[in-house]
Amino acid sequence: MSDFRIETKCVQSGYTPKNGEPRQIPIYQSTTFKYDSSEEMGKLFDLEASGYFYTRLQNPTNDYVAAKICEMEGGSAAMLTSSGQAAAFFSIFNLASCGDHIVSSSTIYGGTYNLFAVTMKRMGIEFTFVSPECTEEELNAAFRENTKAVFGETIANPALTVFDIEKFAKVAHAHGVPLIVDNTFATPVNCRPIEWGADIVMHSTTKYMDGHGCSVGGCIVDSGKFDWTKYPEKFPGLCTPDESYHGVTYTERFGLEGAFITKATAQLMRDFGAIQSPQHAYYLNLGLESLHVRMARHCENALTIAKFLKSDERIAWVTYPGLEDDRNYELAKKYLPNGTCGVISFGIKGGRVACEKFMNSLKIAAIQTHVADVRTCCLHPANATHRQMNDDELLACGITPDLVRYSCGIENVQDLIDDIKQALDNI
Ligand SMILES: *Cc1c(COP(=O)(O)O)cnc(C)c1O
Repeated sequence: MSDFRIETKCVQSGYTPKNGEPRQIPIYQSTTFKYDSSEEMGKLFDLEASGYFYTRLQNPTNDYVAAKICEMEGGSAAMLTSSGQAAAFFSIFNLASCGDHIVSSSTIYGGTYNLFAVTMKRMGIEFTFVSPECTEEELNAAFRENTKAVFGETIANPALTVFDIEKFAKVAHAHGVPLIVDNTFATPVNCRPIEWGADIVMHSTTKYMDGHGCSVGGCIVDSGKFDWTKYPEKFPGLCTPDESYHGVTYTERFGLEGAFITKATAQLMRDFGAIQSPQHAYYLNLGLESLHVRMARHCENALTIAKFLKSDERIAWVTYPGLEDDRNYELAKKYLPNGTCGVISFGIKGGRVACEKFMNSLKIAAIQTHVADVRTCCLHPANATHRQMNDDELLACGITPDLVRYSCGIENVQDLIDDIKQALDNI
């Protein structure tokens, strides 16, 4: 399957039924699996044999869907998690523990920022945030003796900056650590970070991958390319015996292709239990089957609407990396030549009050704290997620009082433009 192009992988990868088996992936709605001898069960517990025994660790439905995403990203192994937040946490915590340090892009999803800067800090892991536009020298200066990974988002939510994957991968590798990329907004249809040097890719599958606003989920894909064994003192969890599994050394037993995901499953999933339910994995797979078709439409609609907004004198500014005069256009052309994403941000002349009137007048675009599904939705952060802040405080975190985040769905684009026009007329 791995020789096929992305569109074929969206539809076909992960599950190939044998003669007489179900065409669609079966939902293994079972917490547990039965064995004939306790000896066999014991081997599973010791990771000496592969097989299913308890859904908190692994379930066949989840594994089919993880295998599909793995092929789409060009990785060596993958796992599903209960949410994007769990995927971000696991991807870092599988490498770093109390006393360690991570370098992260500063323009990342707010939930991830809080996880890193507040919650993981309380666990003793420190983060240094750098601008995605930093020079190599500035990036180098952020590293410490105890740095274990570098993190960034292909297209940042909601800043819409494009991450220079090659630049960050090169510096991360020079310091002997992997680059982890959150590829949620681009999806593997528009960008495959591993092809540009990323080592681990994670997703909130809640967004475009599910794409129908129906199931919260996440996933982690390992490229299998980072050689942990070159830095055994930096990554003892992967390169030295795990006492909680009778002394298995993940890199020795599972190779570079399997070590990272096996450890994340055997330790983190076992202990934190952030599993995706097989039912949700099934819904996610339905979304993946049409991801390539939907992404093209999301991007086409967004570019058309971004150009319309640019041309309307009631609009103060527009940010969309697919626009030729956008600050991130050159990076978008390099990393996302077939399209970026469906999310645009723009400002309305007249600020807070005008935005409120505009939002209330929209008939198709729904007001939601969500992005990236088939239905168009929008949010006015100054009046929603950031409403407790005054204008000065908003500016300090890069959000202007007039900012509207607009997530283009796959409806008819002229209907969406007409909807925006009548809402602007109503201000
Ligand atoms: C939504 C989102 C997350 C968090 O994912 P959940 O599935 O909501 O937990 C992480 N990263 C990005 C870029 C997101 O948009």
